[in-house]
Amino acid sequence: MTSLSPHGPHADAVPETAPSADFPLRLGISRCLLGDPVRYNGGHTRDHFLVDVLGPHVEWVPVCPEVEAGFGTPREAMRLVDDVECPRLITIRSCIDHTEIMRRYTNTRLRDLRSCNLSGYVFKKNSPSCGTRRVRVYDRQGRLLGTGKGLFADAFQREFPLIPVEEEGRLQDRMLREHFIERVFGYHRWQSSTLSRRLTRGDLVSFHTTHKYLLLAHSRRHYQRLGQLVANANRFSTRQSADAYGRLFMEALAVKTTIRKHVNVLQHVVGHFKGTLSSTARRDLHDVLTDYQKGVVPLSVPVTLIRHYVRVLDVPYLREQVYLAPHPKELTLRHHV
Ligand code: SF4
Repeated sequence: MTSLSPHGPHADAVPETAPSADFPLRLGISRCLLGDPVRYNGGHTRDHFLVDVLGPHVEWVPVCPEVEAGFGTPREAMRLVDDVECPRLITIRSCIDHTEIMRRYTNTRLRDLRSCNLSGYVFKKNSPSCGTRRVRVYDRQGRLLGTGKGLFADAFQREFPLIPVEEEGRLQDRMLREHFIERVFGYHRWQSSTLSRRLTRGDLVSFHTTHKYLLLAHSRRHYQRLGQLVANANRFSTRQSADAYGRLFMEALAVKTTIRKHVNVLQHVVGHFKGTLSSTARRDLHDVLTDYQKGVVPLSVPVTLIRHYVRVLDVPYLREQVYLAPHPKELTLRHHV
């Protein structure tokens, strides 16, 4: 049995997730969320979590489609009109149709954003330009027809289908917030592996290996399909394999985790300590897993305990597992029950 001192020689072995210096983590954001007074009424909707908590870990790329398209601030309010699937952008009082101006601006701006290599985008909810869901669409008499998407946000999602996108309102929900951040950091790791250097088959194997438990926490089916893709990578060009892997990887992370999936993963992880933990330590771990399963403690409790054992026992395979530190601890995710 190995002694479980918290001050063992590998006390710093489990790395924290952080944006790499040569590939900064950039997020697009509706500019009003940063506190800039760009709304139609000259106001803003500064978001505390985005600015003060997430802000220090990312590089923002602020975009205000309505100001950048030339409508000025303050400006007459607009809304979506006519067709839920393909709405027009029209001012509410004077009924001026700004659709074509917005479309031309959007085409140019999306080309610029491609070179920014964004890892995610936070949009302002309910906006006829920035809303990604349930934006109200009216008929010409002002009657509600249904809901659709803001023009800029819709075009962005069509142009960049892999980039994780969320609205600031939904990020108030801790589960949705955690899911979004996990996808953002996941996509950034993938970008760092593929964009800043030439990916080799070995890199692909390594990426897949270190993401094993994170992928299993989302979707076992995707993990297996990705494994087959890696195993058959030599039949295709590296570029083709990487493209297919990236698409499926992001599809996997889009599948929501559950307590049950996490418990399953944690039990697998604990299996790596077999024969090295004292019976007391094993009992402690088992009790903590049971408490997590019952919803008595948050996910951060078993994960922190496991990270401690990984450090003390120095288990190289687990040390590399992204699942144990998928995002910076300062974001205080995985703390909800
Ligand atoms: S919601 Fe979008 S268009 Fe409206 S002020 Fe904010 S950034 Fe500008």
